[in-house]
Formats: sequence, structure tokens, C-alpha cells
Amino acid sequence: MDSRHLSHAWYGAGTLTRGIGPANIGLMEAEEERATSHEPREAVNILGIETSCDETAAAVVADGRIVKSSVVASQTKLHEKYGGVVPEVASRAHIEKIYPVIAEAIEQAQVTRDEIDAVAVANQPGLTIALVVGVTAAKTLSFAWEKPLIAINHLHAHLQSAMLDEEHLELPAVALIVSGGHTCLYDCESPLELQLLGSTIDDAAGEAFDKVATILRLPYPGGPSIEKAAKDGDPSAVQFPRSMLGPDSLDFSFSGIKTAVLYHCRGQDMKGENRVDSMSRQQIADIAASFQAAIIEVLVKKTLRAAEKIDAKTVLLGGGVAANNALRDAIQQMCDSSVPARKLLVAPKPYCTDNAVMVASLAYYKFKAGLFADLSLEAKAHG
Ligand code: ADP
Ligand code: MG
Repeated sequence: MDSRHLSHAWYGAGTLTRGIGPANIGLMEAEEERATSHEPREAVNILGIETSCDETAAAVVADGRIVKSSVVASQTKLHEKYGGVVPEVASRAHIEKIYPVIAEAIEQAQVTRDEIDAVAVANQPGLTIALVVGVTAAKTLSFAWEKPLIAINHLHAHLQSAMLDEEHLELPAVALIVSGGHTCLYDCESPLELQLLGSTIDDAAGEAFDKVATILRLPYPGGPSIEKAAKDGDPSAVQFPRSMLGPDSLDFSFSGIKTAVLYHCRGQDMKGENRVDSMSRQQIADIAASFQAAIIEVLVKKTLRAAEKIDAKTVLLGGGVAANNALRDAIQQMCDSSVPARKLLVAPKPYCTDNAVMVASLAYYKFKAGLFADLSLEAKAHG
């Protein structure tokens, strides 16, 4: 694969169309070989594309659940020095990586262009200048290959990750999606029928993990670092606030706890030195464990609230923060101790953070329902 050619290909639709054709991704031979085969092909293969934030991802999934390939180019290293995702940097990196990532996903899946039934892309919500890279690639492929185009909501796709191994969803089902950019609760009737029950009114849970990790001078990305540090800490060492927003609210607020950690480390007037530099490993671990426990308590209580409200038989858990073992265990415990017990479906770890398997998987249901987009599809920050 010639990646120099690929990056040039982005500067004109015509060049891109040629650049991304099967000859350039080494599939022409395979295509010719298969041209003589008349075996009936029943599986629906969908190419999924994801560029909503800081991962460039592509995957081929058959019939919504058979993962034929999954390629993720993470930008963690690029954003590390800024302590968070810089949209402009993310967008440029997507432009560089989108072609090789798509080409690799197709190559790994060992499918020809003809065997791909549709091209799906996450077009909302996310960073617009990041989303637009995936949307442009998907529209170009759809046009050049004459395949239907499917628009996917990134959050709904996160939820789909939890359903990958489940053919029949026992209803009613409540879903908690916790990621770097979002924290949402849904009433989920089917992969395509989701009703938002509540969401964050300020920071997302993952964002709070990332910001607190920065305060504690733990490595980026913050979620895994806090989880690691918390293992050796005492979760009752510091009583951080648990914002419940009233007895019935299904919304979340995590900006207060972030400020509480900051005050704990810098003093209420923020004039003191950052005590983190002189803290022992144990003190840092205690703060990390106490912060993590507070966030998890809120997530679990709100999910239980939502589950009780709709009398949920099933709880779904997805998004980057769902990779956190303490959260997985706490939600499992909540489901087990409900009477009757609720079934927990949690996204496999590789599909918690952003990936394209979830996009291609959800797209299968839109494909079956005939819900296609056209070339006027746009990237949207919200959705
Ligand atoms: P987004 O698309 O909004 O960036 P992702 O689904 O890719 O979200 O998830 C990234 C977020 O998940 C980051 O905020 C990261 O800190 C958090 N995260 C990843 N692993 C863990 C973990 N083990 N514990 C807590 N948070 C985590
Ligand atoms: Mg991400």
C-alpha cells in the first residue's frame, strides 16, 4: 500500500475515487479470481467508518455481528502533550490515516468491493472537523462503488457494541453510554428505537476522568491511568461530592467533582501550590480511588433509577469508560441484586472505546430497514 499516494488522494474527489479503487488496495486479483465463482452469497457485508473524535477506524461486519475486520488508528500519542483532544490535530490525523485504515480493513476482511453491500459512517455527534473526514470518505466510496450509504449516530453505535453477542434483547432495556464526550441513558427497544432518558448537563464522565488525571499528573488518557492508580487507593479516603440533581433526575453533572478534586489539591482559593507534586504515591492513589468511587456511585444510582423507571429487564453498558473494571463490576452487582435480577450486556473491551465495528454492526439494521442516506449527508456536532 502506498500511503504517500493516499494522502495526496484527498485533495480532489476524482483523484480520491481513483486512489481508493480496488486496484490500489490490492483487491483486483482477488476480484478476478472470484468472478468465476457463482456461489450464492447471503451475508450482508457492511464497511463501517468512524472518525468522530480521536480514533480513525474502519471495519467490515457481516450480518451485524460477524466481525471480519476491525482497524483502529488511535491518536493518543498526538494529543498526549496537550492533555486532551485538539480538534484541528485530530482532523489532520484522520485525513492522513483514513485511506490506509479503510484499505487495511478491506484487506483483512478478505472481501472484494463487489462483496461489500453498503458503506456506513458515523456522521454525528462529535467534532465536526473530525467527522467530516469519515463522512467524505464514505460518500466518495458510496458514489464510486455505487453502494448505499448509511448514516450512523455515534452514540447509538456505542450502545450497539453491548448488543454484539446478543440476538434477542429482553425488553424493556436501559442503556448507559459513558464516553469521553458523552454520558447518556436510553430506553432501548431495538437497535434502531432509542429514547434518550437523560444525559450530562456539563462534563461527560470520561472527560472528568481525563481532567482529574491531568490534575493528578497521571498519564494521558486519564481513564485507564486513574483506574490503575485507584487499585492501590482507599475509595473512602476523600469524600468527593456525588451530584444527583434531585431525586428523580436522570441527568448527570460531573463538573462539580472535577472542581472538588482541584480544590483538594490546590486549596479553595486556588492560591496554594499544587500539592500533587509533594504527595506520596499512596495519597495520589487515595484521591484517584475516591474520585473513581464517587463517579461510579452516581453512574450506578442513575442507571438503577432509569432501570426502575422503565422496569428494565436488561441493562446495556458501552462507551470508553465502560472499559473500567470497577464500573463493570458495580453495574453487574446492581443488576444481580435487583429483584428480579436484571441481565447485563456489556460491550467487549476492544469495542468500548471508539471503533468502526459498532458502526458497521448498527448499519446492518438500517440496511434491513432500507434506511439509507444520500450524498447530501453532513457531519453534525450534535445528535
Ligand atoms: P470519545 O469518543 O467521546 O472520545 P471513547 O468512547 O473513545 O469516547 O472513550 C474515551 C474515553 O474513555 C476517555 O475519556 C477515556 O479516559 C475513557 N476511558 C478509557 N478507558 C477507561 C477506563 N479504564 N476507565 C475510565 N475511563 C476510561
Ligand atoms: Mg475516542
